[in-house]
Amino acid sequence: MSLTEAVAEARAKPPLRGEGKDSHRSDAPQVWFDGVFVDAGSSCAPLTTHAMHYGSGVFEGIRAYATTDGGAAVFRLPEHLERMRQGCELLGIPFDVAAATGATLQVLRRNGHRDAYVRPLAWCGTGSIGLDVTPLSKHLMVAAFATNVHLAGTRVRLGVSPWRRNPATSLPPLKLCGAYVNSILAKHEARQRGFNEALFVDDQGRVVECTGANVFMVRDGRVTAVAHRDALPGITRDTVIALTGARSRPVRYDELLEADEVFVCGTAAEVTPVDELDDRVYGDHRVGRELAQHYQRVVRGEDAAYRHWLTRV
Ligand code: PMP
Repeated sequence: MSLTEAVAEARAKPPLRGEGKDSHRSDAPQVWFDGVFVDAGSSCAPLTTHAMHYGSGVFEGIRAYATTDGGAAVFRLPEHLERMRQGCELLGIPFDVAAATGATLQVLRRNGHRDAYVRPLAWCGTGSIGLDVTPLSKHLMVAAFATNVHLAGTRVRLGVSPWRRNPATSLPPLKLCGAYVNSILAKHEARQRGFNEALFVDDQGRVVECTGANVFMVRDGRVTAVAHRDALPGITRDTVIALTGARSRPVRYDELLEADEVFVCGTAAEVTPVDELDDRVYGDHRVGRELAQHYQRVVRGEDAAYRHWLTRV
């Protein structure tokens, strides 16, 4: 089913339980959970939930943006849900892209969000406490949070992590919940040393990625996307390559230190210039700033050439 068909089907579907006009409407934020809306604060997962014990879940981080015509649109929704489908397939969690598309649009409409961060999560529930996920119940939720459109304006200070990124040969670079303990360890360690973000580098000194963002550098006006097999193939990275014509290649840590500019990108981070990397301070953010502005126009549908990346809410 194409995305257009999935969106049309989601719109045509009868209201879900809890979505009809007559149903009780709570003022609390609503989360889509296995086909019904529940209050965001309600407890729907038992303490024996497998994913809570072992990280057996898959998530996405998606953003919706207010568009200039007064509406809202989700940025690159099919790509996010396809990545989620791949993760779910590995864990044997059934995942219906069309249903997840519908749930995403419904949760945004239901909560009246325009600028929003959307968090779908599919997970292994209950039925056993062993490591075989086959007998377990499987669940899907989609939550949406109002996003502050302005980044806090904090200086981005990256420290190289003593931790190595999960090797792709052990944990594929997908958004598997348990894999993120690796990011959490790196972030925690970096913060303890006074940085606010960690940069993963491999044993050969090649740059991998940050804890939740991909890395780019600019040298003599040329934009380079850091390529590494252990890094998540980010959707924002792909967007930035399309916008800049950046070359994608492996990059050594010392090349980053010698670069004129470094910036990171991700759905949550958008395009964010890096101010410091260990002892190196970057004074120049010209390309990164211009790109960050262009990215804003693209995600809000102001650049007609990229409107095909938007799914209207
Ligand atoms: N790397 C990691 C580890 C991430 O968690 C993210 C955020 N999803 C990214 C990179 C950026 O990916 P995307 O642009 O698809 O959000």
